[in-house]
Amino acid sequence: MSARILVVDDLAPNLHLLEVKLQAEYYDVVLAKSGYEALEIAGKEKIDLILMDAMMPGMNGFEACEKLKQNPETWHIPVIMVTALEETKDRIAGLEAGADDFITKPIDDFNLMARVRSLLRLKMVTDQLLSHTGHTRTNSRPLLEQIDSNSGNILIIEDHTLRSKKLAAPLKKKHNVIVEGDPVKALEKAKGGLDLIIVSLVSDGFDGLRVCASLRFDEGSRETPILVVGDPEDEQRLIRAYDIGINDTLMRPIELQEMQARVTTLLRRKFYADNLRENFNQNLEMVVSDPLTGLGNRRYFDRAIDPLFGALKEKNEAFSIMVFDIDHFKRVNDILGHDMGDQILKEIAARLVTNMRAIDIVSRYGGEEFMVAMPNTAEAEALVAADRVRSLIAGTPIFVDGQALQITTSVGVAEVKNGEQLRDVFKRADDALYKAKLAGRNQAVPASELRQEAA
Ligand code: GH3
Ligand code: MG
Ligand code: MG
Repeated sequence: MSARILVVDDLAPNLHLLEVKLQAEYYDVVLAKSGYEALEIAGKEKIDLILMDAMMPGMNGFEACEKLKQNPETWHIPVIMVTALEETKDRIAGLEAGADDFITKPIDDFNLMARVRSLLRLKMVTDQLLSHTGHTRTNSRPLLEQIDSNSGNILIIEDHTLRSKKLAAPLKKKHNVIVEGDPVKALEKAKGGLDLIIVSLVSDGFDGLRVCASLRFDEGSRETPILVVGDPEDEQRLIRAYDIGINDTLMRPIELQEMQARVTTLLRRKFYADNLRENFNQNLEMVVSDPLTGLGNRRYFDRAIDPLFGALKEKNEAFSIMVFDIDHFKRVNDILGHDMGDQILKEIAARLVTNMRAIDIVSRYGGEEFMVAMPNTAEAEALVAADRVRSLIAGTPIFVDGQALQITTSVGVAEVKNGEQLRDVFKRADDALYKAKLAGRNQAVPASELRQEAA
């Protein structure tokens, strides 16, 4: 589905001119002839972006923008203010009204499409972030404002001192800004930790396009937003810059407000995307880890031992698994209560993790069952390890609420044979565990014992 853009202008010819331009780029276009009409449509329909004429009779564009930005239902929709040429006053008024960007009349197509694309990408990331974090538009403001308050790490690549100062000075008020005039050093600095790179296409000593291409090629800067500074006459090179993968352009002579609007949009997009990624990773972690003990869960274990099967097949590197089950845990719960039971589970988990090797995979496989995989370990060695940990658990009382409790575990141990499936090994380890329980608990039994009996 294509993005829906609301165009607001009191003059029909202007409306239709923009409508034609935007439709040619396959956007859905909705038209409004006044600020009032714009507010009504934005409140009712799903709108992704608003192009707002500043000068309109009745409610002007600034007022309309301000009202949109105050309304919890519409405040997240990006607004591009369309102002008359060279009206700095208008730009400041627009910023105060909460406009996200500016474009001057007569509208330059190239510039218009660059603005539209940039803000629509921001809108996409915002929408995604909100839906992933379970926020609605109405309650999302604190989250977004908190992210917006971050200061960004910005690298400016420009070799002309005065020009670089003009860019850097206003940004330094909020952000960490580094200026680099040497393209080789700049590429080195761009390798990590940056939120935005500003590249001059009008520098004296290097080719800005080549720098952009290198930035996009390097893994460390591939995803970092790039804002390019160029001359309006240089449209061909600016178009090539977009082909290379830059994110936005700033035309000279540079207007302070405009630069700030562009930088804010790019940083927002970057920060929202970072936040989205973090959230997503957190969600992933929640899926594979057990909140009570912090150990990996069953899903984690099943995935984590996959490479061990690979090693067994390719390098004939055997591995063993063991399953620990707490003895008479139902009784423990019945006597001490479920909460105390939970504390015991946590303590057992901690003891398991701290007494296994770092390469061993320890997980809480079920309620009071812990599964451990030991890479490159034969059954006899695994049995020694299992018995050591079992005896350590039984021999050191667990303190819960000032009570010293003696908790024991039983363990089944099995070495994985080549060609064996996960479920076959589990079955053998489980049978060994069952045997340990029958034999009186608080012991470790190897699966090989079962086979000897069966034979
Ligand atoms: P056995 O020695 O034969 O293993 O006896 P058991 O009582 O441990 O036997 P069983 O495996 O049938 O019971 C497991 C009990 O573990 C049942 C349940 O109350 C308890 N349990 C399972 N998950 C949790 C948990 O997350 N927290 C607590 N507190 N108890 C749990
Ligand atoms: Mg059990
Ligand atoms: Mg048990």
